[in-house]
Amino acid sequence: MTGLSQHLQRIEASPTTAMTDRATQLREEGRDIISLSVGEPDFATPPHVIEAAKAAMDAGATKYTPVTGTMALKKAACLHFERDLGIATGPSRVIVSAGGKQALFEAIVATVSEGDEVIVPSPWWVSYPQMVRFAGGSVVPLRTHASRNFRFDPGDVEALIGPRTNWLMLNSPGNPTGAVYPADMLLGIGEVIRRHPGVMVLSDDIYAPLNYSDGPHATLANLCPDLADRICTVSGVSKSHAMTGFRIGVATGPKWLIDAMGTLQSNSSGNPAAVSQAAAVAAFEGPQQFLAEWREIFRRRRDMVVAGINAIPGLSTPVPDGAFYCFIDASPHMTKNGGRFGDDKALALHLLDHGVAVVAASAFGGKDGFRISFATGEDVLAEAIRRIETALA
Ligand code: PMP
Ligand code: GLU
Repeated sequence: MTGLSQHLQRIEASPTTAMTDRATQLREEGRDIISLSVGEPDFATPPHVIEAAKAAMDAGATKYTPVTGTMALKKAACLHFERDLGIATGPSRVIVSAGGKQALFEAIVATVSEGDEVIVPSPWWVSYPQMVRFAGGSVVPLRTHASRNFRFDPGDVEALIGPRTNWLMLNSPGNPTGAVYPADMLLGIGEVIRRHPGVMVLSDDIYAPLNYSDGPHATLANLCPDLADRICTVSGVSKSHAMTGFRIGVATGPKWLIDAMGTLQSNSSGNPAAVSQAAAVAAFEGPQQFLAEWREIFRRRRDMVVAGINAIPGLSTPVPDGAFYCFIDASPHMTKNGGRFGDDKALALHLLDHGVAVVAASAFGGKDGFRISFATGEDVLAEAIRRIETALA
């Protein structure tokens, strides 16, 4: 039979990229649209990274590389995991993929069978549940709330673990809420995982440098090294080094899993782009001081956006501790509460009509609100907030 496979019928196009494509299209038609829909730093990729990419091309890095990445990049990734996340690993336990997204997809598809369950904290990044469903698994939502800064307690996880649970997803700092898990909470989660030997943890640390809370970034594989064989940690350069278009992500975990992800990669995309790999080596091995400067810029933007949003009647957001998103509640604007929007999709379309592209909360498993990215300049953010205020007045 022709047509869509059962696997594909379970998923839809990514709502974040769909809204961003829509905003781009409207701009091309001449409309004045501010896009706060995509999570992508507005900074230029650092010059030393660009130079490394050019030099690689000139040196003939235009051919296939080993499927799971060059040895140079695997070693640079080990340096990154050790220096930035405190995770000791080796090249045989590292895979390089076309973005963190591909690594996450491969980890899920390589391990989740029909009927398996994956615990996903919600609001979630749009692609997590789709990856699980594509693989045939069921998503078990772990609800979190704005009143608790969108963090769950370790006890909340235990109640959801069943005989078919094979993963818990962790994303700190998190998209779309900015939730950051401190070490004590992660240690508590580690205790729960220790009691359930069939459960693994997929730790998405792609926003690690963008942590505005006190203290260093905390991650499970560092805090619970005895669980290292049950944790897959995903990281990359897209968000940290403003390299979204290079498409490089890295993951480390138990060798059997990394090998399985490699099997999938060898039969699908093959190796990540050779030039991009050379650029990522420069990103991991080159200067890192600018990350702290960028973090301060993001922190300023965050404070400005949070104040601006919370000053608009009917909108509220907690202060995100990390990443570059605000997850905004707009429930007073919904018809069930006396407002004028039937649901958050109608609200997002209304904002688009007023020149601001945002993503409806329901895309992230939430409701009655929307996500904005503040990875853009302060002037643009200020204008976007003015437009949102006008649109809702
Ligand atoms: N994880 C999260 C939580 C993200 O927001 C993103 C952004 N797309 C990714 C993974 C993947 O990033 P990329 O594939 O661009 O490296
Ligand atoms: N992670 C970013 C976002 O949530 C990029 C788009 C995507 O890959 O979903 O906007």
